[in-house]
Amino acid sequence: MTVHQTSPAAPARKPQSQSQGESGQSYTNAQLHEIEHRYSAPNYDPMPAVLSQGKGVWVHDVEGRKYLDMLAGYSALSFGHQHPRIMDAFFKQAKKLTVVSRAFENDQLGLFCKELTEFCGWGSEGQTLPMNTGAEAVETAIKTARKWAYSKKGVAKDQAEIIVCSGNFHGRTTTVISFSSTPQYKADFGPLTPGFKIIPFGDAEALAKAITPNTAAFLVEPIQGEGGINVPADGYLAKCYDLCKKNNVLFIADEVQTGFGRTGTMFACDHERVRPDLLCLGKALGGGVYPVSAVVGSREIFSVFHAGDHGSTFGGNPLGAAVGREVLKVMKDENLCEKASRTGEWLRGKLRAIKSNKIKEVRGRGLLNGIELNKNAGDAHHYVELLLKEGVLSKDTAGQVVRITPPLIITEEEAMWGVEKIAKVLG
Ligand SMILES: *Cc1c(COP(=O)(O)O)cnc(C)c1O
Repeated sequence: MTVHQTSPAAPARKPQSQSQGESGQSYTNAQLHEIEHRYSAPNYDPMPAVLSQGKGVWVHDVEGRKYLDMLAGYSALSFGHQHPRIMDAFFKQAKKLTVVSRAFENDQLGLFCKELTEFCGWGSEGQTLPMNTGAEAVETAIKTARKWAYSKKGVAKDQAEIIVCSGNFHGRTTTVISFSSTPQYKADFGPLTPGFKIIPFGDAEALAKAITPNTAAFLVEPIQGEGGINVPADGYLAKCYDLCKKNNVLFIADEVQTGFGRTGTMFACDHERVRPDLLCLGKALGGGVYPVSAVVGSREIFSVFHAGDHGSTFGGNPLGAAVGREVLKVMKDENLCEKASRTGEWLRGKLRAIKSNKIKEVRGRGLLNGIELNKNAGDAHHYVELLLKEGVLSKDTAGQVVRITPPLIITEEEAMWGVEKIAKVLG
């Protein structure tokens, strides 16, 4: 196999190490691992590759070992590393104006909001509320829904309920983990925020039963990412949306991970022609260079906010806004939805063709894919470590699932390089 050597996306094989200490000495993988392990709080247990350079779908560690990125930062790197146009927009804006706070206007924010609102299918009736991280977008949607319930729907003070699904992942803030169904995410972080009801994912009947006059919103990932790449049955989202409309309940889609082409359509809700009342976006919106998140919705719903009700010092800053604007252009110009749909179909075919008694199922949509392993094959984490040794970055989730979610720009040739390693490890 010579693909990795001839790939135009691959950086020089022996990159200059950027990992220089204060006195100019360079560090080994092992040394940097030890330093990070010692001084970075232990809320993560990263795999032992100290990455220092990336371009396109390829990254290098500090010792020049090369990896194919088949995780893509959980969609944060949907455009790959160092996308030339996004980097260009970033540097250009970085040299002009970066942060002003929302005390003043800036020349990028209004255009970013206009372009994102239109991009998401709202015309002049829509608005965007910019934040930074995915969890903040979800928090914003929750606050919007609660305020809407009290000021528009007439729910009595402090009685608003939001319905969510088991197996959800919406971020790590105190309120968001309050309605997680993963015990570790909430253990010892109480007291938790009340006002949430958990129903099974993929079960529209359960939603019908759970709605009460106090229900403000239904919050759902159209495909659960962290939950194990769970694709609901066709018609689920449309049914839930109809139930919400019938009961005057807001339908909130968390597309932080599934948005911007990941599943082969611009948004995963597009598969069922559903336009949510509130759309949470993040990850890919930052183009792999800068945290940018947002909630998009109707002007009518956002009218519940008055100046001072909610905000963020960095949200909507001109640097993030300029990056987000370029992301929208690149999405369209590079036809990345169609590409993700085609490459994803092809990739699932290749993965399903791997002869292995370890693989239970290959599932997904577009380039959001998971390989579920049989129970007797052991933990997915073990195989993810073996893949790393073979030069493939991936990540286990929900115990038995290996995520295969490369940048949308990946070619079949590059993906095939990864498929061969996966076949070697799982075959
Ligand atoms: C990653 C993710 C979030 C949280 O995003 P952060 O930027 O890590 O706060 C929220 N929702 C979904 C569906 C996600 O995948």
